[in-house]
Amino acid sequence: MSDVRNVIIIGSGPAGYTAALYTARASLKPLVFEGAVTAGGALMNTTEVENFPGFQDGIMGPELMDNMRGQAERFGAELVPDDVVAVDLSGEIKTVTDTAGTVHRAKAVIVTTGSQHRKLGLPNEDALSGRGVSWCATCDGFFFKDQDIAVIGGGDTAMEEATFLSRFAKSVTIVHRRDSLRASKAMQERAFADPKIKFVWDSEVAEIKGNPKLEGLTLRNLKTGELSELPVTGLFIAIGHDPRTELFKGQLDLDDEGYLKVEAPSTRTNLTGVFGAGDVVDHTYRQAITAAGTGCSAALDAERFLAALA
Ligand code: FAD
Repeated sequence: MSDVRNVIIIGSGPAGYTAALYTARASLKPLVFEGAVTAGGALMNTTEVENFPGFQDGIMGPELMDNMRGQAERFGAELVPDDVVAVDLSGEIKTVTDTAGTVHRAKAVIVTTGSQHRKLGLPNEDALSGRGVSWCATCDGFFFKDQDIAVIGGGDTAMEEATFLSRFAKSVTIVHRRDSLRASKAMQERAFADPKIKFVWDSEVAEIKGNPKLEGLTLRNLKTGELSELPVTGLFIAIGHDPRTELFKGQLDLDDEGYLKVEAPSTRTNLTGVFGAGDVVDHTYRQAITAAGTGCSAALDAERFLAALA
């Protein structure tokens, strides 16, 4: 059993590293669990990031995350590339257990575990990520000016991505497994009214083609089994996200989709001394800058909470 720390941060994306930077600069000596496999978060899997302010010429995702990591470390954040496997957040002293079974104790905990975008589960999907395959139109749409793009999904996110992309694209084809959409009526109407958007119904992606860049998709009609080719250079997969909240079930309040609930505009959760930030809370904006912003808010909330204890 370790000494009681001021604050433990679980997760190491833009939200976690920003919370680490702020709490470290406030002399709170944060302990940060970065995750065993994906330390650095979602941006470790992308190429160029053009919309994080301060980098006029853009910056590669892993380099941006290395910079954030180094900045937090410079002010004394203790960074551990390990997963948290259990938590007890209810008491005044919270406990966090790592993969070796060591129990760490703290007065405050900041949860920044992010969310995982759902994949189609096809060969080539990961290999072509950043080479035509994307999960975020706001992030990558600009790279697909005057190109033919496919969007997979039938919910609000898919419609939003498609209508956003139609501003840049030559054409947008929405591929959906059913013959009607799940999206709200207003979103559907916007998509139907857009002359650049067309629909392929009752169909799924059978194959993602291209090497080293995306060149097209083979689609399978789920009613007839018939295969067809769709030549596209952009593929946006919009079939949902899974917030990483398994660890907190039964302790922290989650919404219907499993996202962590906070008392917005603060980052306070239902448990005193526990704060949440980044994509584990946010199913609306899902950007590096918004994750970093709420990571800052969580650090300031934790700092004020600890100051009030003293
Ligand atoms: P994440 O970055 O997801 O980080 C969460 C971290 O928590 C991970 O490191 C994970 O390993 C760790 N973790 C989870 N569970 C545990 C645990 N039990 N123990 C320890 N650690 C744990 N946004 C932009 O603004 N611009 C872009 O260009 C852009 N491009 C993108 C490209 C791709 C391919 C993807 C997937 C996303 C992109 N985004 C972009 C979105 C952006 O990456 C996210 O909004 C942002 O990373 C969310 O930050 P976060 O800190 O909340 O979570």
